[in-house]
Amino acid sequence: MTALQNRRILLAAHPDGRPLPSDFRTETVQVPEPGDGELLLEILYLSLDPYMRTRMNAGATYAESVPLGGVMLGATVARVRHSRHPDWRDGDIVLSYSGWQEYAISDGSGLRRIDPSVAPISTALGVLGMTGFTAYVGLEEIGRPVPGETVVVAAASGAVGSIVGQIARIRGARAVGIAGGAAKCSYVKDELGFDAVIDHRAPDFAEQLRAACPDGIDVYFENVGGKVLEAVKPLLNQFARIPVCGLISQYSDQATDASISLSDTLFKSLTVRGFIQTDFIERHQAAFLEQAAQWIKDGELRWREDVVDGLDSAPAAFIGMLDGQNFGKLVVRVRD
Ligand code: NDP
Repeated sequence: MTALQNRRILLAAHPDGRPLPSDFRTETVQVPEPGDGELLLEILYLSLDPYMRTRMNAGATYAESVPLGGVMLGATVARVRHSRHPDWRDGDIVLSYSGWQEYAISDGSGLRRIDPSVAPISTALGVLGMTGFTAYVGLEEIGRPVPGETVVVAAASGAVGSIVGQIARIRGARAVGIAGGAAKCSYVKDELGFDAVIDHRAPDFAEQLRAACPDGIDVYFENVGGKVLEAVKPLLNQFARIPVCGLISQYSDQATDASISLSDTLFKSLTVRGFIQTDFIERHQAAFLEQAAQWIKDGELRWREDVVDGLDSAPAAFIGMLDGQNFGKLVVRVRD
C-alpha cells in the first residue's frame, strides 16, 4: 500500500426521478501499489455526462448499471503517477475510464495517450473526446447533411450539440440551434456562428422554430426528446434524417416518451436511427481525431468547457446539468 488516500464517490441509492445528493456517498480508502504490468493513475479531470443518469437506474439499458456501492463511472484524464507497465511512463497523460475518484489502478487496457500539443488536455473529454466524436459520427454517418439543407439540433450550446451545428455549417448546411436561455442562445449564434437559435423556454417556441426553418427540417439531431421533438415533427421534410443521440428530457422521467409514429416515418420517408457512439469507435475514431484536430487548427471548431473544481463538486454539478445549469462541456478539475 502507498500512503496515498483515494477519495471516491459511490452510488448510494437508485434515484427515483431527479437524482438527489443523497443518492451519492463519498468514501476514502487507501491507494494500493500497482502490481507488475499495472500503473497508478492520478485523475486530473473527470467528465460528467447525461448518460450517467441512465446508469444509475436499477435495470441495465444499453450498458450495465453502476451497482449500489460501486464507484460512479466516467471518463477521466489522468497522469501516470507510477508505471510498472512496459508501454507507459511516469508522467504520461492518458484518457482512461476511471470514474469518480482521485486515483485508479489500471492494467493499461483501454488507455489512450493524449497529445497536449493539440489542445488543452481536458478536451480529450469533450471536443476531442467522446462528445465531439458523438456529434461527428451521428451527423456524418446518419444525418449526412448536404449543402443548403437545414439541420436542427437541441442542447445546442452543450458538448454534443455545439459540435453538431458547427460541423453542419462546415458541410454547407444551415444550422439551427435550440438552447435554454438568453446567454446560451447568444453564444450559439454569435460565437459558434449558427444561422439561427431558438430558446426552448419561450412560450411561442414552436412558432419561432417554424419561422427559423422556412424550408423545413432535413436533419434533426435528437438530443433531448419531449416537447422539442413535438415542435420539430410537423416541420420534418420528406426524406429527413433523425440521428437519435439522446433524450435528456426523459432520463429522470421515463413516463414522457415522445415518439415519431410509423405513419410519419412511412409517409415522409424518414430515417430514424438511434446510435451509441461506442459502436463506431473502431471504424471512425482515428479519422475523427485527425479531422477534428485539423478543424481546431484552422479555427473552424470552437468549444466551451464548464469546469467545476474538486471531486466533491461532482454530484451537485451533475444534478445541475440534468436541469440545464451547465454551460458547455461539464468537467470536474479533480486536481491541478
Ligand atoms: P450537454 O452539455 O448538452 O448538457 C445537457 C443539456 O441538455 C443541458 O445543458 C440543457 O441545455 C439540455 N437540457 C436538459 N434538459 C432539457 C430539456 N428538458 N429540454 C431541452 N433541453 C434540455 O450534454 P451533452 O452534449 O453531453 O449530451 C447531449 C445529449 O447527447 C444527451 O442526451 C446525451 O445523453 C447524448 N449523448 C449520447 C451519446 C450516444 O452515444 N448516443 C454520447 C454522448 C451524449 P439547455 O439549457 O440549452 O436546455
